[in-house]
Amino acid sequence: LINELNKLERLRIVGDIAASISHEVRNPLTVTKGFLQLLRCSDVSSDKKEQYIKLSLDELQRAEEIITDYLTFAKPSLENVVVLELNSEVDYVHKVLAPFAAMSNLTIEVEKSEKVYILAERQKLHQALINLAKNGLEAMAHGGKLLISIEETATHAVIRIIDTGNGMTEEQITRLGTPYYSTKEKGTGLGTMVVYSIIKIFDGQISVKSTVGKGTCFKIVLPKITNETKKAN
Ligand code: ADP
Ligand code: MG
Repeated sequence: LINELNKLERLRIVGDIAASISHEVRNPLTVTKGFLQLLRCSDVSSDKKEQYIKLSLDELQRAEEIITDYLTFAKPSLENVVVLELNSEVDYVHKVLAPFAAMSNLTIEVEKSEKVYILAERQKLHQALINLAKNGLEAMAHGGKLLISIEETATHAVIRIIDTGNGMTEEQITRLGTPYYSTKEKGTGLGTMVVYSIIKIFDGQISVKSTVGKGTCFKIVLPKITNETKKAN
């Protein structure tokens, strides 16, 4: 399915990300380990104890957030590439995010197309869509609706993730996908980097349109499986 050089390039991208993420997760774990060792000493005042516990919990939360943005993507393999029907994959993502949206009084709507098939790894596709949808929801602090739509052209599947949130400036858009760029107090800045890598791995393209104060649209275009590609493989 995939030519060898391409495959090496893809594995390299995944490997680079895995290395940088494990580094990021290791830091909070090391800090927490240190605090636990300090807590063992009997002469620690209860004030200090309370402080160490709080810092440890903050650090663990940080590690947890990094893993959430990254989830299963660390596995450097492309062996799990399968034929996926996009409408049902988007349904899955909707189901996963519905409680998260409800917590903030937001709604998610899905606009489906005819059945459309792509080649991708299920978990990675989910990760990309979840990261984008999560950003959309997080951008709507004052309420709104997230729309995920699926369309197809003769050769490609098109997914749009549209929010009515705070939007971005041109400058902010150019910084998307760079590691650790975040405007959020507890952001990881890894979400969009992971998305961009995943879309690249599956020969897709991603583009952004955004208006400050109005909202944002992420458009993902992925090669569709057509009868032609079926014959070619
Ligand atoms: P994080 O969500 O942890 O901050 P991301 O890589 O997912 O990291 O996003 C990076 C930054 O891009 C966010 O902090 C935010 O400023 C901006 N951003 C991404 N998606 C959107 C969106 N839909 N609306 C507004 N800003 C966004
Ligand atoms: Mg994010």
